[in-house]
Amino acid sequence: MTSPLRPSVAITEPDRPQIWVGCFRCRNDGLLVGDWFDAVGAETITVAEVHRGSGVDWAEEGCEEIWVFDTDGVWPTSTEMDTTTAGRWGELYELVGPNQWPAFCAWARSEGVTIDGEDLPDVGTFEERYEGEHDDWNAFVWHHVVEMDLQAGWPDEAVRYFDVTRYGRDLRHSYSVEDAQYGGVYVFRDA
Ligand SMILES: [Zn+2]
Repeated sequence: MTSPLRPSVAITEPDRPQIWVGCFRCRNDGLLVGDWFDAVGAETITVAEVHRGSGVDWAEEGCEEIWVFDTDGVWPTSTEMDTTTAGRWGELYELVGPNQWPAFCAWARSEGVTIDGEDLPDVGTFEERYEGEHDDWNAFVWHHVVEMDLQAGWPDEAVRYFDVTRYGRDLRHSYSVEDAQYGGVYVFRDA
């Protein structure tokens, strides 16, 4: 379902998860009643807030159920959900922070996490496994070689003939690589 509105608040964090919350009963009457909200705090959104400015007397009409019909910003997948679930993802956003949020969502996706599943991705585990954003896999491999000081004490000739591609192929078995938001890749160490 597409919504005619975009988030009405100025968004300084473009990846910040936003939700479009609508009313089920009004929708069944053919009325598109709803609004954009921040996922942070979504669990407190009320039926009254959803109807604000719509001209619908929700109490009179017996409106009760609200639902997230659309999302904006970055999420692991695009899906509908209830506002409690949206609020749980909002909490995760606050824990992870705006800078690492796209990488966190990519990791959640690679782990097969579903937005409305029982088990939310663990922020601590993400922080342990995330190896940063790199231009490509080979760039990460070089970064890894340097950071781990793998060639310390090697003869010049060994350094010169080091087969980084082959080394990277072996290393690849222990990592997950996901496309980054604007090109490049996010690298995650597997368990
Ligand atoms: Zn309604």
